[in-house]
Amino acid sequence: MKKKIAFITGINGQDGSYLANYLLRKRYIVYGLSRRTSNYKFQRLKYLRIFNKIKIIYGDITEYEFFSNIVKKIKPDLLFNLAAQSFVDYSFDNKFTTYEVNTKAVYNILETIKNFSKNTKFYQASTSEMFGNSKEKFQDENTEFNPISPYAISKVSAHDLVRIYRNSFGIHATSGILFNHESPLRGPEFVTKKIISSLVRIKFKNDRPVKLGNLSSYRDWGYVEDYVEAIYKIINCSKADDFVIGTGNTTSIMNFFKLACKEIGFDPVFKNGRKYKYCIDKKSKKKIMQINKKFFRDKELHYLKAKISKANNILKWKPKTNLKKLIKIMVAYEIEKIKNPHDENFY
Ligand code: NDP
Ligand code: GDP
Repeated sequence: MKKKIAFITGINGQDGSYLANYLLRKRYIVYGLSRRTSNYKFQRLKYLRIFNKIKIIYGDITEYEFFSNIVKKIKPDLLFNLAAQSFVDYSFDNKFTTYEVNTKAVYNILETIKNFSKNTKFYQASTSEMFGNSKEKFQDENTEFNPISPYAISKVSAHDLVRIYRNSFGIHATSGILFNHESPLRGPEFVTKKIISSLVRIKFKNDRPVKLGNLSSYRDWGYVEDYVEAIYKIINCSKADDFVIGTGNTTSIMNFFKLACKEIGFDPVFKNGRKYKYCIDKKSKKKIMQINKKFFRDKELHYLKAKISKANNILKWKPKTNLKKLIKIMVAYEIEKIKNPHDENFY
């Protein structure tokens, strides 16, 4: 049987690399879009041992002509748009790039599919950030969007475009509204990876305390391997639609920090400093965390918790990995990395 073709934008990112791995296991031919940088490392793909199995196309997602020529040429069965400026904090100072990449490029993709590749099924990476500070105890497909960052605004606009193209032009255009999902290959600036990699370095390398911002917001954190399975189910669902994907549980950053400490073997004691809180390890008396105002956001999203009954019912999807297990996986990776300082495959 002829192998199916998948095209992933953002192949070099956390989700792109895990999704590529998932699709290769399902015997897809996988193309991946990666923009030119001065230094091609592809560490995530290398860590997953799949770099040589992917057909990399170099280019920028914001270039309409380039992008449509690629799609005309490879005619993908599935097109996953995961490329984005994905860091909320960065978006406050880089609104226009965030808009170009996260919104305008989606216009390019949808126009390309409409004009040249109508049988291509499309997936857009939407986000729980679109809900903003909703008043609901949980968020699902019926919750109103109330974006509070340039990142969230760019994603709401893209999400609306996907709906319009689905309804007006009959394109199989889907969106996954994914809540935060993490892994050892998460970007280093995100709070889960930052906490875990720092605490492991403090434990084994006597590194300096991790500097954090607001510990009182809540996130619904899941594991990326479960979420790429959901993405695959969403794009292949017989009726193109939007789906909320999360765990249905929410945890504060403070509690995440405590759980990570426990897994690593620290016993955190919180103290009030002259201006800001800090934290020491009870046994070693080592300072392991310091609150720093630099990491607070002008506009904070306080609370996210998914309700996933639609994905449960229609996609038959539910997460397999709870937060404790996720932390275990992330900690084990950081310890391995410390033990193998010369192994360039570690991300
Ligand atoms: P990452 O930031 O890890 O990956 C984003 C990828 O997009 C990177 O590979 C980046 O390239 C690429 N990219 C950025 N700009 C361009 C451009 N102009 N042209 C081509 N490629 C570009 O994000 P994740 O993998 O974590 O997330 C994947 C998607 O899911 C994103 O759209 C994100 O907004 C969304 N999302 C993520 C959630 C999460 O918790 N992870 C939650 C909800 C939604 P490079 O490697 O060169 O930097
Ligand atoms: P986000 O939900 O996509 O913004 O994911 P992040 O991991 O960047 O942030 C999650 C939450 O952690 C937000 O409420 C941040 O304000 C909070 N946070 C607290 N300290 C930090 C920090 O040092 N870095 C980051 N990235 N977030 C922090």
